[in-house]
Amino acid sequence: GAGTPDKKVKTTCPFCGVGCNYDLNVKDGKVIGVTSNLTSAVNGRLTCVKGRFGTDYVHSPERLTTPLIKKNGEFVAASWDEALDLVAAKFNEIKQAHGSDALAAISSARCVNEENYLMQKFMRAVIGTNNVDHCARVCHAPTVAGLAATFGSGASTNSINEISDDKVIFLIGGNPTEAHPVVGAKIRQACRKGAKLIVADPRKIELAAKADIFMQLKPGTDIALINGLMRIILKAGWHDQEFIKNCTTDFDKMAAVVEKYTPEYVEGITGVPQHLLLEAAKIYATAERAAIFYTLGITEHTCGTDNVMSLANLAMLTGNVGKLNAGVNPLRGQNNVQGSCDMGALPNVYSGYQKVTDPQAREKFEKAWGVKLPDKVGMMLPDMFDAAVSGKLKAMYVMGEDPVLTDGNTHHVHKGFESLEFLVVQNIFMTETGKLADVILPAASFAEKDGSFTNCERRVQRVRKAIEPIGDSRPDWEIIRDLSNKMGYSMSYTHASEIMDEMASLSPMFAGLSFERIDEKGLQWPVPDKEHPGTQYLHKDGNFTHGKGIFKAIEHQPPAEEPDAEYPLLLTTGRILYHYNITTAGYSKNLTAHRPEERVMIHPGDAKSLGISDQDTVTVSSRRGSVQAKAWVTSAVLPGGIWMSFHYPASPTNQITSGAYDKITKTYEYKACAAKVEKT
Ligand code: SF4
Repeated sequence: GAGTPDKKVKTTCPFCGVGCNYDLNVKDGKVIGVTSNLTSAVNGRLTCVKGRFGTDYVHSPERLTTPLIKKNGEFVAASWDEALDLVAAKFNEIKQAHGSDALAAISSARCVNEENYLMQKFMRAVIGTNNVDHCARVCHAPTVAGLAATFGSGASTNSINEISDDKVIFLIGGNPTEAHPVVGAKIRQACRKGAKLIVADPRKIELAAKADIFMQLKPGTDIALINGLMRIILKAGWHDQEFIKNCTTDFDKMAAVVEKYTPEYVEGITGVPQHLLLEAAKIYATAERAAIFYTLGITEHTCGTDNVMSLANLAMLTGNVGKLNAGVNPLRGQNNVQGSCDMGALPNVYSGYQKVTDPQAREKFEKAWGVKLPDKVGMMLPDMFDAAVSGKLKAMYVMGEDPVLTDGNTHHVHKGFESLEFLVVQNIFMTETGKLADVILPAASFAEKDGSFTNCERRVQRVRKAIEPIGDSRPDWEIIRDLSNKMGYSMSYTHASEIMDEMASLSPMFAGLSFERIDEKGLQWPVPDKEHPGTQYLHKDGNFTHGKGIFKAIEHQPPAEEPDAEYPLLLTTGRILYHYNITTAGYSKNLTAHRPEERVMIHPGDAKSLGISDQDTVTVSSRRGSVQAKAWVTSAVLPGGIWMSFHYPASPTNQITSGAYDKITKTYEYKACAAKVEKT
């Protein structure tokens, strides 16, 4: 956008979990651009192309501007009263007829903390069910479970600002150059300052070229790789015996399991040459401090939680946790996926990870909310679709997400939504899920509301209202409040800050948060009281959240689906720089122009034997369906491997991805499924 702004409003980027701050430039009530704000705690002057140019979606002509009610198969504009009266009546009716557990909600990692808190409160206190979940289930639920089981706290241990001073960085299953660009820039800064970089990934990502060691492992073989590194470290005596003795338990069980992961054995499983394993182990283990970074290449597997626990094992083995420039650092995808977990938009916990099955926690919330609360853990996302198909679940309330495009094996998800008696979708755009809804509630974007997002280093930062909501749209928290009132449960919040105050008063780890305190630089949790300065890194001096760190004995497990004669290739999916997820970036003309269509990466050898040239239109199929895309012949992928993004409604990749999921968290295995490619 051009022109001199009338005002600049500092806020937090709505795209990825880095949580950059910048100024929205506003003129005549419209966002006309983005400029750096040097007071930003995380990014200073830096932003990426998404943050810089992607916010034009706010004024997209496709924005929903009025509530819609489906009548005879067509959406008809309605007033807020009409729409909310209908939703309240239907929700009450279904609750009466089939019980509270016949309803479920999907909350949103795109929405502010206050909205996530309110959504779980609405489902628990007003509807009376713990059936609330969100897209962490399809990305970092294994992080929450895996790091909680080992370290006691399901969050990134260290801080983004430490990265440029890191001495050794081990990046596995992540491509920050494209998915977390400002972190990618900081890793490159560290390399320029002499840091050693180890990269493990099935693709030759941009940072692989900068790496001292690049291990191009086969998809789904991370545990074997990590066990192999740990065995080398143990045999060489590079482990931190003091740390293991004083700060951890169950070391022997873990050590017994890794014994068989000899370099030869590991090379056989992973395809990584033994000499690279030896060098990587040496660099990581003999450094004074070494930091691990990972993303969904680790979590989106049937063994996702085990993958995360393996990385925690490696860090504990070498004493690389509880100090600066070290730790295990998941880079979280959606801007507020950390916050939506923190706020209790999960079927098993209230805000602050207080368990719904813990009578004391439940009593506290019952007293504060003035209701009796359910004590049974609710449904996880995949369970919801199963229950919808089987008829157990009758109604759903979906805020800010589009599972029909984004969840694994989407044909099943589609069928689930179609089987419902009543579906409410609250979003800023019409989505594929929205098309199936009975009522659409138009929400305000991040530029139109106050609140807070929590980035991947646990920093709770302000989102500030810069313009008035577009059309008749409203902030999600206002919609939930009004709906609650119509259902007979009184909510009287007049500002998002009041919701944070309530949340803080009920959640010990967030007790010190308030809008006033996070105003300038945000605060990194835990923040246990109003004077607490926040926590830069977790588990200081090996004092883990639950006492001692717990080693886990973990065996390699292959993906649920492996290539065979019919589907001879292994498909992995991920994100590209110019896109985010579908529901916002697809509406940014600035971003879409850079890469208008899906491209499937295929190795030159495979392309040749299939008679495929670069740019050919091809059909990619799995046991679940097929999609079309343009071929991208490149040796960035391994022979036998193909790679696609999931950003394009015209090539809905998730119609072919696997419906298999992590046994602990039910996170889909997006990173590995058997597929074939044919010239169209
Ligand atoms: Fe936004 Fe992430 Fe880019 Fe920062 S790195 S500007 S948070 S998309």
